[in-house]
Amino acid sequence: MATAFPPAPKVGMVSLGCPKALVDSERILTKLRSDGYQMSPDYAGADVVLVNTCGFLDSAKEESLEAIGEAIAENGRVIVTGCMGNEAELIRARFPSVLAVTGAHQYEQVVNAVHEASPPVPNAFVDLVPEGGLKLTPRHYSYLKISEGCNHRCSFCIIPSLRGDLVSRRIDAVLREAEKLVSAGTKELLVISQDTSAYGVDTRHEPRMWHGREVRAHMTDMARELGQLRTAEGRAPWVRLHYVYPYPHVDQVIPLMAEGLLTPYLDIPFQHAAPSVLKRMKRPANEAKVLDRIRTWRSIAPDIAIRSSFVVGFPGETEEDFQYLLNWLDEAQLDRVGAFRFEAVEGAAANALDNPVPEEVKEERYQRIMEKTAAISAAKLQAKVGRTLPVIIDEVGEPDEEDGGIGATARSQADAPEIDGNVFLRDVGDDAKPGDIIDVLIEDADDHDLFGAPVAG
Ligand code: SF4
Repeated sequence: MATAFPPAPKVGMVSLGCPKALVDSERILTKLRSDGYQMSPDYAGADVVLVNTCGFLDSAKEESLEAIGEAIAENGRVIVTGCMGNEAELIRARFPSVLAVTGAHQYEQVVNAVHEASPPVPNAFVDLVPEGGLKLTPRHYSYLKISEGCNHRCSFCIIPSLRGDLVSRRIDAVLREAEKLVSAGTKELLVISQDTSAYGVDTRHEPRMWHGREVRAHMTDMARELGQLRTAEGRAPWVRLHYVYPYPHVDQVIPLMAEGLLTPYLDIPFQHAAPSVLKRMKRPANEAKVLDRIRTWRSIAPDIAIRSSFVVGFPGETEEDFQYLLNWLDEAQLDRVGAFRFEAVEGAAANALDNPVPEEVKEERYQRIMEKTAAISAAKLQAKVGRTLPVIIDEVGEPDEEDGGIGATARSQADAPEIDGNVFLRDVGDDAKPGDIIDVLIEDADDHDLFGAPVAG
């Protein structure tokens, strides 16, 4: 028996103007072809018609308008692109029924407009990538990369020399990817970059249209939009922000956590607390009032979990600096902390700094910071015992040989995958599956993990 595939949607193309416009048309059609569309040689067979316009001379404009009019009369479902797309208002005034108008070289928009007007038919036998793209993570959580590179020059880091300065992705491209991921089954989005709070600085936060409204390439706008996505079950996905530097505008995302649009979690790599060390590290957003701000954040979003990482034994770190860091941690009460012993990375400016810290001192400081942060973590987790918390299931075990009970490994909103702790569940029921978000009663805690059971109902 042969497998019957649903018919692929067909696209018609009217290409006007110069050779550059022709090349654009070819590029658009190539992309659409690789997305599974068929081409239609006539108006009648097309599900949607693209008119690639020319707007160089008045006569060319008139020809373009005539071509749009003909496509509307013959087919009715028309998308306009090319140079005249820059005069969208004029086109819309004359042809209010056009489905979309995009400008010259806006390949991604025009292809998306076609996807919207006539969605591609997924075909597991011929598509190279599954719906939602190729992923290295389990289906229920996905990393969403919003930019590449970094404008800072931290003295221990070689990322800017390897990856270059900050280059932010367009906000509509980021949101479209997130939307696709969520409709393909992602329940948790992990926003990543080298410096998430700097998102859009390089493009002056260039706004783009997204579902009929203007959205800036800015962390706050992005977070608000991501919080409005809905999974197939109609829930907001969990959205975590990673690698956030504490610039002042970070304060603006905290209310989104209180509103439930953003997971109450911030990953801020502070790296140190002592002002002299931070200065030698050349850290961005290095400011003294961060403890006050953490207090304010917690007063707005009491459940906010703050994760951070710290480097001990940075060149020139004195015992006093290190003690400053330990005292700071007592005040900050961070939920999750990773600590690293300073290592010279080839090419990093910090390698040339005076007063390297001897290995045994680094090791001793590392042990002290681990002890300190484990104690803070244990106390914070203990305070959750008796509470009911939502968790996301990562893995479901096999039924127990003796009592048939099924356990599962899950995470609370305070736990990012791979780097934070877990919530180990008992008796989850045989219908539990990875990606389920359920309420659980927390019954016990240790230094890094919680233990609990689903709340009935
Ligand atoms: S450590 Fe500093 S320089 Fe390196 S990526 Fe982060 S902010 Fe940029």
